[in-house]
Amino acid sequence: MTNLHQEYDYCWTIFSRRFPELPKPKMYVRKMRQKWGLCACAAKSHITLNRCLQTADEEFVRHVIFHEMCHLLHPNHKREFYDLLKQFDTSQMRENERVNQRVERLKQRAEAIRKAVNNEQLKIKNEGQKVEKVEMV
Ligand SMILES: [Zn+2]
Repeated sequence: MTNLHQEYDYCWTIFSRRFPELPKPKMYVRKMRQKWGLCACAAKSHITLNRCLQTADEEFVRHVIFHEMCHLLHPNHKREFYDLLKQFDTSQMRENERVNQRVERLKQRAEAIRKAVNNEQLKIKNEGQKVEKVEMV
């Protein structure tokens, strides 16, 4: 189950970076027959999401949410609307997230290797000192 409130907050964090002056609209989850989402864009007061989205995948849910958020600035589906929506390309964001996670894993692995090498060097140094002591006796 996709947590719609969590996804909404996530999308708003990204969206509001571009439009910090916009107040965050409330979000409602309702049973809807024909639409995935609805934006009360004239009042800019709330966005409603179709309850069925709870069973949809995260990327699609985010796409619907960004679509509705873009309606806060453009009430219809004219070109300006799609130009704005393009800037919140969910598949690209997902790819970026994947890349960031991979970079993070590689950093952790590099850190683990660095520690192991340090330990090994310390061991060699200690053994070297032991050998020197033995030779001196
Ligand atoms: Zn629309």
